[in-house]
Amino acid sequence: MQISLKSAAFRARSLRAVRPLAILAVLSTLLILYRGSQRNHELNPITTITGPTMGTRYSVKLVQLPRGVSLEQLQAGIDRRLETVNDQMSTYRPHSELSRFNRHTGTGWFDVSAATARVVSEALRVSELSGGAFDVTVGPLVNHWKFGPEKGTVQIPSDHELVALKKRVGYRMIEVRDSPPALRKQSLAVSVDLSAIAKGFAVDQISEFLETMGVSGYLVEIGGEIRTQGTKADGKRWIVGIEEPVAQQRRIRKEVALSGRAMATSGDYRNFVEIDGKRFSHIIDPRTGWPVEYRLGSVSVVADDCMLADALATTLMVLGPEEGYHFAVEQDLAALLMIRSDEGFVEKATPAFARLFAVR
Ligand code: ADP
Ligand code: MG
Repeated sequence: MQISLKSAAFRARSLRAVRPLAILAVLSTLLILYRGSQRNHELNPITTITGPTMGTRYSVKLVQLPRGVSLEQLQAGIDRRLETVNDQMSTYRPHSELSRFNRHTGTGWFDVSAATARVVSEALRVSELSGGAFDVTVGPLVNHWKFGPEKGTVQIPSDHELVALKKRVGYRMIEVRDSPPALRKQSLAVSVDLSAIAKGFAVDQISEFLETMGVSGYLVEIGGEIRTQGTKADGKRWIVGIEEPVAQQRRIRKEVALSGRAMATSGDYRNFVEIDGKRFSHIIDPRTGWPVEYRLGSVSVVADDCMLADALATTLMVLGPEEGYHFAVEQDLAALLMIRSDEGFVEKATPAFARLFAVR
């Protein structure tokens, strides 16, 4: 069902933002399974390194340490990489490159690191590909609907307010160049928020670091975004689980063989607003200016790198069950959509995703 902005049911009134467990969303949407492809196989000894990052936690699982490398060294290197990404792209850090760019009161080129330019460039590519469903300039709308750092009651915007907010949103107002790396905004009212893609990029950064250190088998995860390489010590593939998208429940619904690739999951079941008894997800449809209707429980996308998987999972959440599925099939994406229905969840996997289901 589409929402009509003029619908009487949505007269402006104050609403309560509901974020059960949002802070505890540390608990990722995915549960990693350590098992091999034999159901009764004994767990292999796997070393895990964990720590806080990006409002959630990271975890890195290793099957062996390269000769001459200590666990402490690896952890220090991982933490350094994560610090760097946060200093570049976090909008929660006032002095990050991106925060400074957002505050910058000029429309000329603004120097950033090659990493920031790369992530913004990939974000703009996904925006083009998705007809603007994915849009990292969506911040003013995110804040209006109280999904940003500012808390409080949600006010439904009037048509006039919505037009004003939407004027400050639009990926075409951002430009990026790679040498020397820099960003430029066409309007001072526009800002960039990389929340929907930076976690995936950070996972890629950790993977790259592990590889330069000679680690051959690993599973990296930040808040549900995952990347694996190699196999476990027994030569078995990494298998990851996709949860049923229900808060306060941790039931694995599907298992996927993921060696050598990345998977990101975007879900609305731990972060949503309630408007007149109806739920809306924390993801915004930049085309309407409204949060996305609460119909897709979750979307998982498998890709070669986690930055792309992350951006595409959010994109499919915006496009929704029908348009999103068609887009995924058309683009030959490996995607699994869990759609709410009166009889529970209906799973829709694209052909490319179905091939990844773990065979036991
Ligand atoms: P999560 O961060 O919960 O894992 P996502 O990767 O899907 O989930 O990112 C969601 C975040 O992205 C939102 O909290 C918001 O800051 C931002 N966002 C919301 N709508 C969009 C959109 N249409 N395009 C890009 N980013 C978005
Ligand atoms: Mg995302």
